[in-house]
Amino acid sequence: MTVDGTPPRGDVQNYIDGDWRDPSSDQGQDVINPATGETLTYVGFSSEADVDAAVEAGQAAFEDWSATPVEERIQPLFEFKRLLEEHQDELAEILVQEHGKTFAEAMGELRRGIENVEVACGIPSMMQSGHLPNAAPDIDETAVRKPLGVFTAITPFNFPGMIPLWFLPYAVATGNAFVLKPSEQDPIVAQHLFELLDETDFPDGVVQLVHGSVDSVNTLLDHDGIEGASFVGSTPVAKTVYERGAGNGKRVQAQGGAKNHVIVTETANLDFAAKKTVSSACACGGERCLANDVAVVEESVYDEFVDRVVEEAKAQQVGYGLDDGTDIGALITPEHEARVRDLIATGVDEGAELLLDGRDVDVESYDGNFLAPTVFGDIDPEMTLAQEEIFGPVLGLMSVGDVDEAIDVLNRSDFGNAASLFTGSGADARKVRHEADVGNLGVNAGTAAPMPFFHFGGRKDSFFGDLHAQGEDMIHFYTDKTVYIERWPDA
Ligand code: NAD
Repeated sequence: MTVDGTPPRGDVQNYIDGDWRDPSSDQGQDVINPATGETLTYVGFSSEADVDAAVEAGQAAFEDWSATPVEERIQPLFEFKRLLEEHQDELAEILVQEHGKTFAEAMGELRRGIENVEVACGIPSMMQSGHLPNAAPDIDETAVRKPLGVFTAITPFNFPGMIPLWFLPYAVATGNAFVLKPSEQDPIVAQHLFELLDETDFPDGVVQLVHGSVDSVNTLLDHDGIEGASFVGSTPVAKTVYERGAGNGKRVQAQGGAKNHVIVTETANLDFAAKKTVSSACACGGERCLANDVAVVEESVYDEFVDRVVEEAKAQQVGYGLDDGTDIGALITPEHEARVRDLIATGVDEGAELLLDGRDVDVESYDGNFLAPTVFGDIDPEMTLAQEEIFGPVLGLMSVGDVDEAIDVLNRSDFGNAASLFTGSGADARKVRHEADVGNLGVNAGTAAPMPFFHFGGRKDSFFGDLHAQGEDMIHFYTDKTVYIERWPDA
């Protein structure tokens, strides 16, 4: 199952200046299959010297790479896309083993990553700026975008195949060098992405991988050779990373955690809304920044909607993501499972109505971090369940008088990543579009994930910075602009 000519699965190494090297600090951790408890590998963390070596190789590569014609810069990306598609099945299998989600979810995640590579192949058109002849008497003006140097991305555990590809393709196609620091919890997919990159014609030092944890992130954020950093992860870390990177004069975009709401109005198709709501809350075990885990429902249809949601949630099969028929896989670690169980207990203590309890789930033959869908009714906006990001298959339902009240609940949240609305009313849809303070809004779509030619990012505590991930925002993040003001008196 390994990519030909590359280290065997589990042999996690840094990829620096075109070479595979062992991370050289004395720290690291085991990478464990969340469904079986099997140890897959050990990931060593990088030392300061490892990070220095990657940044210096990136700086050296940048000189030629930034001057390489853009049409040549995108050729390795076409090759990378072909390799990703050729190896998508095996990448998905590895992803399931180290993350715990299902094979179908892993395939979908990788498809979303590949789509970012496709969009970045259009950089020659996207990177153009503006030209205005006769901008002033006898003067022509031309704006150009220029790459800046070495960028880094620090990515979370929950989409280890997709999130690195929100950044890497755009960074290098615009002419920069790039260093990825993936999550230490599931680093094997990143290793395999770089094995595929190693097969393409990127010059040494243009794409690099360093494994590690907090120390490696801080070394990158403090490094004079790093121009900018993208971060995706939890809100407290996003805020620290933003402050530290920006304090060091770098460009930083930091995507944080989320608490997303579904609004269901009385004109909604309730069967469809219930199906999509359960899938939104529970897919990938609920470990998604786009999971809608609070449903705010108009009271006239609340009881009917609750019945359908519970029925749908009960039908979900929990199990090992590589087994046929599994709808919901395992949570990333026993500690995270325990945290979600604690939040369920808190929901009960705070008086929410436990309509479906997933805590007694028994997955035959596996001793993993499993939880079945758990549904609470009658939650209110002050409860912990309505305020904290849960990151597990837990859904809370709340009854409200009308759409105005639903929007008010949503806007009181500290987070603003995404929301979904299920309705048959154009007027309600328009109202929510205008008034909901979120970065992504799905209308009759349970998961508000934009295609990669649109930007992706939230608001409030879900995002720190200005330019978001994916699409055109990435071109702006990875380049700076110069204007040439030209006069040719003898022309
Ligand atoms: P995390 O914040 O624990 O870790 C993310 C990355 O930061 C990892 O690479 C980790 O090594 C590093 N890190 C951890 N602690 C650090 C510290 N103190 N200083 C510097 N770096 C540190 O997040 P996670 O548990 O891997 O991912 C889940 C979180 O990510 C959830 O909150 C989820 O909502 C969020 N997320 C957000 C988006 C988005 O687009 N907004 C997308 C995916 C995930």
